[in-house]
Amino acid sequence: MDTIVLVIHGGAGTILKKNMTPEKEKAYKDKMTEALMAGYSILKKGGTGMDAVEAAIRVMEDSPLFNAGKGSVFTADGKNEMDAAIMDGKTLNAGAVASVRIIKNPITAARAVMEKSPHVMMVGRGAEAFAREHGIELVDTSYFYDEIRYRQLQEIKKHEKPALDHADDTSGSIQENFDMEFKMKKFGTVGAVALDKYGNLAAGTSTGGMTNKKFGRVGDSPIIGAGTYANNKTCAVSCTGHGEYFIRTVTAYDVSARMEYSGASLGSASGDIINIKLKKMGGEGGLIAVDKNGNIAMPFNSDGMYRGYINTDGQAKVFIYRE
Ligand code: ASP
Repeated sequence: MDTIVLVIHGGAGTILKKNMTPEKEKAYKDKMTEALMAGYSILKKGGTGMDAVEAAIRVMEDSPLFNAGKGSVFTADGKNEMDAAIMDGKTLNAGAVASVRIIKNPITAARAVMEKSPHVMMVGRGAEAFAREHGIELVDTSYFYDEIRYRQLQEIKKHEKPALDHADDTSGSIQENFDMEFKMKKFGTVGAVALDKYGNLAAGTSTGGMTNKKFGRVGDSPIIGAGTYANNKTCAVSCTGHGEYFIRTVTAYDVSARMEYSGASLGSASGDIINIKLKKMGGEGGLIAVDKNGNIAMPFNSDGMYRGYINTDGQAKVFIYRE
């Protein structure tokens, strides 16, 4: 039987067992299992990795448990602005949207950018106009309102240190603020990578970004090569974590490049990047990946990462903490 694999994540960060109730833990595990089964049923019937990735991500976008679609975190001015990307490892085609506010499933809009436009990335109101033209479901901004996420924003704002006015001091306090914001934020960016029975790889990521983000900030998730990448020659990767670091280290592409140019295995390439390179820089987070032979990797340097996989045997396995 042909190998099929689907791996998902629901965000990395300070996810500690002591802060979880058994009910919450079960809710996360059930939703991740539902996302895995949605993608797996497509792969099993001979569907494509692209379809499986989109289907799995849509399940998590529609759940308030994750920071993507419904459940997205709030920007500094109390809005929800979402980013998403998808990439096809066979053709190296890709699509992305960023800073969108009324698209119910940003991953579907990202795919439409890839398949129905000559472009790779569309942002803001332009991306929304494009989505409207292509019949993609739009919702009122109130659809994304979530009480818990809103309280998280207020909590972060309370702890915000005012940035100093002097050029030299400002960089330190801005960096500190941002690091602190990342630690306090509710995690839950979602992603999926798949290998289908035709040997094609696909990757997708969708996020509300970081709580309290400002001035049209865009993270790594919709940036091809940073948070999302797929190439049939090597692997498919979706990242989660403090996006600024993932952009600067071109993380997702780095996994593929190490495999392509120096023959590294998926496990060593992704493990070294997350646990050595990113960690040294202070970048917190993790990634999920699958290679062209169906090997998987799910490294993270944070306390936890919502993650799981399913392969040819059809048994979904989901994890939250280091275990
Ligand atoms: N990487 C996402 C961003 O920086 C956030 C996350 O994965 O939690 O926008």
